[in-house]
Amino acid sequence: MRGRFTIKKSLNFEGIGLHTGKPSRITVHPAQGGEGIVFRKGDVEIPARYEFVSQTSRRTVLEKDGVRIETVEHLLSAMYGLGITDALVEVEGEEIPAMDGSSLPFAEAFYENLVKQEGEIQPYRLMLPEKVEKDGRRVEAFPSDELTVSTAIRYQHPFIPSQFLELTITPETYLREIAPARTYAFEEEVEELRKRGLAAGGSLENALVISKNGYMNEPRFPDEPVRHKILDLLGDLALLGRPFVGRIMALAPGHEIHVEFVRKLAEEGAGGPVVELDEIKRLIPHRYPFLLVDRIIHMDEKRAVGIKQVTANEEFFQGHFPHYPVMPGVLIVEAIAQVGAVAFFKKFGGDGKMAFFAGIDEVRFKRQVKPGDTLVLHIRLLRKSSRMVKMEGKAVVQGQPVASGIFTAIIADIR
Ligand code: ZN
Repeated sequence: MRGRFTIKKSLNFEGIGLHTGKPSRITVHPAQGGEGIVFRKGDVEIPARYEFVSQTSRRTVLEKDGVRIETVEHLLSAMYGLGITDALVEVEGEEIPAMDGSSLPFAEAFYENLVKQEGEIQPYRLMLPEKVEKDGRRVEAFPSDELTVSTAIRYQHPFIPSQFLELTITPETYLREIAPARTYAFEEEVEELRKRGLAAGGSLENALVISKNGYMNEPRFPDEPVRHKILDLLGDLALLGRPFVGRIMALAPGHEIHVEFVRKLAEEGAGGPVVELDEIKRLIPHRYPFLLVDRIIHMDEKRAVGIKQVTANEEFFQGHFPHYPVMPGVLIVEAIAQVGAVAFFKKFGGDGKMAFFAGIDEVRFKRQVKPGDTLVLHIRLLRKSSRMVKMEGKAVVQGQPVASGIFTAIIADIR
């Protein structure tokens, strides 16, 4: 668990929007622990979450009930980099003000006014590698004990063919190494961006402009562009709604793939907390050789993910089949269901209760599971009443689906 942070007092920022070129003003207010980061415009509130992203071309746009807020990423990056978990951002205008093109004006003001508050937040501690890839852009992440970001950019450009930077993010490294890095553009693309209705507020005052021969204004770091890429990535990562613990490696990233990565973490990934074997044994009565889940590595409102290491010593391989050991498909189904049972009893309490299959539908087997495979078992809650639960389940080995189905269980009292 981590502490929750907000700011001591309301802070104002004003300026013009980088893309709209229009004046705007925001007031960032303290918020109660647990409220999260929320934008408010008029009477519409938009949580800073990936579900509300409506556009990702050159900036990140949030939208709800017809209300749009443009270019939220630099402000969110400052909050995320400093560990702010709760704040209300009141927006007057269409876009967050560009300030100097970096997140430094926000980050400095937040850092001075940072305050720890009641409550804790569960970080998303990455438990399994994740990857999204599209059109030569890639974001990958691996389990780690801290938040480390490495980013590489590559261009067909004589002055900036490539830049690379790796940094472990703390409030101090963020403030010093990332926050000052300004947004950037190549001289030859400025006109085209303007034709697309973007960068209308961009100038040498709020952007680093790169010509074929070098930077057109004074850079703040020799590798300022790649630092700004990390700034943007952290701003979009904030849309996860929780601190992230893991090692991220991004190649030629942009807002679209950042948001896709966040969506994948939230909807398919495994981000703790962990239920270990001893607790699993308290929650369900299964024992060797029929206990088919080693550990739960993710649980949230709707989903759980468990793992089962399939070894050559499994009892069932003695008969299934000695010359060609394959895990029986029905046991894969059983393993998925056991993850569902552990998650269900952990969440809703299981004293004196057991779960029994009431139905199994739409089961498909796609691949064989053999000794040495790690089964990743995903379960999603579809419906629940006091006596019945319906879940969708899936087993995956190395990112490839091996089995899936819909499971219904009755919850019975065994007293
Ligand atoms: Zn940016």
